[in-house]
Amino acid sequence: MMLIIDNLHATVADKPILKGLSLTINAGEVHAIMGPNGAGKSTLGYTLGGRPGYEVTGGTATFDGEDLFALEPHERAAAGLFLGFQYPVEIPGVSFVQFLRESLNAQRKSRGEEPLSGGEFLKLAREKAALLKLDMDMLKRPVNVGFSGGEKKRAEMVQMGILDPKLAILDETDSGLDIDALRIVGDGINAVMRRPDKAVLLITHYQRLLDYVKPDFVHVLAGGRIVRTGGAELALELEERGYEAVAA
Ligand code: ADP
Ligand code: MG
Ligand code: MG
Repeated sequence: MMLIIDNLHATVADKPILKGLSLTINAGEVHAIMGPNGAGKSTLGYTLGGRPGYEVTGGTATFDGEDLFALEPHERAAAGLFLGFQYPVEIPGVSFVQFLRESLNAQRKSRGEEPLSGGEFLKLAREKAALLKLDMDMLKRPVNVGFSGGEKKRAEMVQMGILDPKLAILDETDSGLDIDALRIVGDGINAVMRRPDKAVLLITHYQRLLDYVKPDFVHVLAGGRIVRTGGAELALELEERGYEAVAA
């Protein structure tokens, strides 16, 4: 089992948000978490990633056999956890290539691996950029500065391809995308992550990304817990009938 979350309780600014959430994800699976605004979906992602301010007050999470909450955020990343967020940060003055190479080499160092040389890294970056149809010139520009919504997402998929995580948690990665960008993100997730040794947790408010990345399981998060689990058809039912009818 890749990720086992058992009875997780978490607070944000001393406010209880997650209240006994349990979820198990196996290698090879794609899970979607859906739920109304304010349900705690992003809180789940941030808590698993170890973002400051998100405090675990109960329960456990085991990632690839390790106690996830005992690891620092950078150790979680080095162990193979990738988090993609709704609002990618812009970093003026640092090119994407530099940023990606430093991120990858920091992770390799944490794992006791040698850093990639500039040449080795560029070869890898070209390969992943081609896979995700992102012009290499984009990666020479400052991180996300002046990128369109679609370009930011494509660049994020390239980042995911380069870091090669075991588990990707993608929070509202489909928000604000036009239909072409949505397809690119969907194809990107499938190309990089749809493999027997990897898993994906897609946090999404809408069903449409799930047309491209077909989930094995769909969970409804409400009131800080998973209140319902089903297959891909549950997402369609939610879209049709709304959260209140389905999660009640
Ligand atoms: P979702 O992603 O499902 O829309 P969130 O996890 O973002 O929900 O938010 C869950 C709840 O936590 C909301 O009630 C939200 O207002 C609250 N919350 C989130 N971040 C903070 C914060 N930094 N300070 C106080 N409350 C927060
Ligand atoms: Mg929110
Ligand atoms: Mg959210």
